[in-house]
Amino acid sequence: MKVSLASALGTCFGVKDAINLAMDPQFQSNLTIVGQLVHNRQVNESLKKHGVSLVNSIEEIDKIKTKKVMITAHGAAEKVKEKLADAGFIVYDASCPLVMRVHKTIKGMVQKKYFPVVIGQEDHVEVKGIVGDLEEFVVINDETDLDKLRKVGKRKFGIVSQTTQQVEKVESLVKKIMEMDCVDEVNFVNTICQPTRDRQIAARELADQVDLMIVIGGYNSSNTKKLMQVCEERKIESHHIESTSQLSREWFVNKKHVGITAGTSTPEYVINEVHKEILKIAEGIQALEEQPMS
Ligand code: SF4
Repeated sequence: MKVSLASALGTCFGVKDAINLAMDPQFQSNLTIVGQLVHNRQVNESLKKHGVSLVNSIEEIDKIKTKKVMITAHGAAEKVKEKLADAGFIVYDASCPLVMRVHKTIKGMVQKKYFPVVIGQEDHVEVKGIVGDLEEFVVINDETDLDKLRKVGKRKFGIVSQTTQQVEKVESLVKKIMEMDCVDEVNFVNTICQPTRDRQIAARELADQVDLMIVIGGYNSSNTKKLMQVCEERKIESHHIESTSQLSREWFVNKKHVGITAGTSTPEYVINEVHKEILKIAEGIQALEEQPMS
């Protein structure tokens, strides 16, 4: 059995920079991260071991016991940062520059009188940050949300996407919006980030060559779930796992070529552990197959 890693996989620069900042010895136990730094259980556990505190959102401001707070790679609205600063916290901003580009793009569209639309998950921390400073907006996650556009009574729409969306899904939704009779003009800037695109392209290429795909990443990681969708769309047996303990030997029986991919918040050491375990399983299966028949 051959085992291949996708040509692009795992932690992106935005997540790496944010983790490095949080782990900086200057903070010791004097830092609280507002919102999950990344949607990855192992990373959050190692941050806690390092003495870093975590709160889910600004709503939990009363639970913050440290002087220093950190905004995650997913970004936050300016008013959230201001609220923290006004409450006397020292705010460290680890927002990914590619998320900040989305904030800037949509604010620019509003200034040009386009009604702001975000393609993404309404309850995702990144999307909350993107729309957090806007007076009005619509979030579209799928076709069932398109009717929301009719209700706002506007005809010029400015559209951006959450950075971790699936490319084809976003393009198809924008096409449908352009065809709506209530829409005169669409200004669309595709803000899916390059690391997300690279991982989707590499996963698709690999899925076309294998008969099993293993997708590694947090169960609540948006971009990992999108990688799963990419693999399933190629009609390849695919399994989403967070760690080696979830691997099942049966998946690998009679498989010739196994592919591995991982989301932008999956640390390298987790990918290495899974890779090694799969090689071990493959060796075990091969040894059984080579046993002489009695
Ligand atoms: S997934 Fe993209 S936008 Fe998000 S932190 Fe990584 S590089 Fe930045």
